[in-house]
Amino acid sequence: MNDFLRLLRNKGFKLTPQRRAVIEALQACSPFPTAQEIHRHVKNRAPDVSLDTVYRNLTLLIRLGIVNQVNLPGRSGSVFEIVDGNHHHHLICLSCGHAECIDYCPVIPQKIAQAEERGFTVVSHSLEFYGYCRACRPAG
Ligand SMILES: [Zn+2]
Ligand SMILES: [Zn+2]
Ligand SMILES: [Zn+2]
Repeated sequence: MNDFLRLLRNKGFKLTPQRRAVIEALQACSPFPTAQEIHRHVKNRAPDVSLDTVYRNLTLLIRLGIVNQVNLPGRSGSVFEIVDGNHHHHLICLSCGHAECIDYCPVIPQKIAQAEERGFTVVSHSLEFYGYCRACRPAG
């Protein structure tokens, strides 16, 4: 929690009780809770916090690099995780929604530099791999 506190302070933000509750919910619900699951957890402590507030705080924490958003296929929405260690990506099962981390980034920095030549400043990227987990893999 002290690291998050320092990070927020460095960027000029306070660790408000709501932000603290969202971070604690992410730690308690891991791995990969939905915003609704985080909200349910936060409400145990702060019953007046709305889902909107949870989303707002998640958006800020994502922007600050404290939280990762992982997009699920179709209309299933997103799940979230506390950033722990290095920038990385995720494998997502199209059948059961299982998500797991891969601890590296396959994006080539030179290619990002190429994108920036268009006059666009890249600050982050996200990339998910969709497929079938061991349990759901089609037989054959
Ligand atoms: Zn699966
Ligand atoms: Zn991850
Ligand atoms: Zn990456």
